[in-house]
Amino acid sequence: MSFLELTNVSVGYGPTNNRTEVLSAVNLAVEENEFVAIIGFSGSGKSTLINLLAGLQFPDTGEVRMGGKVVAEPGPERGIVFQNYSLLPWLSVAENIDLAVKSVFPALSKAERKAHVDRYIAKVNLSPAREKKPSELSGGMRQRVSLARTLSMQPEVLLLDEPLSALDALTRANLQDEITRIWEQDKRTVVLITNDVDEALLLADRVIPLTMGPQATLATSFDVTLDR
Ligand code: ADP
Ligand code: ADP
Repeated sequence: MSFLELTNVSVGYGPTNNRTEVLSAVNLAVEENEFVAIIGFSGSGKSTLINLLAGLQFPDTGEVRMGGKVVAEPGPERGIVFQNYSLLPWLSVAENIDLAVKSVFPALSKAERKAHVDRYIAKVNLSPAREKKPSELSGGMRQRVSLARTLSMQPEVLLLDEPLSALDALTRANLQDEITRIWEQDKRTVVLITNDVDEALLLADRVIPLTMGPQATLATSFDVTLDR
């Protein structure tokens, strides 16, 4: 049994008499602490796949399991980072992260929470921006905040849904280095969704192409053996 498993998963959209199947009998197995990238064109079903893993969406047929248990709802053990930062604009960097920490670790004292929040802000090199509002930050910095917020909830699985696609090439390269550094310091299971083949090869241990269109399915994955 693998840590994350999709077994025979199908998902379609539209009314029953005119249904388009986006994922057809997809199987996927991800081991604990493995960094997997799923690549595919826009419209190939990548977001559908990551939503299934997150528990934000459920398959028409088949099963999604984590640690042997069926994924029945979203939870902090599966942290997700989206392409758009979804930060609360009226809260500072620290307050955005604190809100998440408070919801997941309600027993922490205020001082413990502050230490926890600051640790994650430092992890993404944003200590000088602690009190800033999202509108005062660059796109790259906002995405660092999102990453810190998700990591601060200490998820067992990190789901990255095209987290860097909206950024310019230089910022993207910068954040790719950060993700590698953070992952090396703090190993966990990561599923990255991306349409950037170079990014997939750079970051992941294993790259899985998602084939396009109705009857989409996962092609055979390949291991990345390039030197980082
Ligand atoms: P990707 O992330 O690879 O772009 P998605 O999973 O977002 O792929 O979408 C796959 C296909 O399913 C697309 O053709 C999209 O238009 C369609 N689709 C996604 N979500 C819905 C929905 N809620 N209702 C109808 N069609 C959808
Ligand atoms: P960009 O998204 O503009 O490429 P990065 O996300 O790569 O920027 O961040 C570059 C670094 O510069 C950040 O780690 C941050 O510490 C620092 N930095 C840039 N602007 C500010 C600012 N206004 N306040 C605090 N730090 C900043």
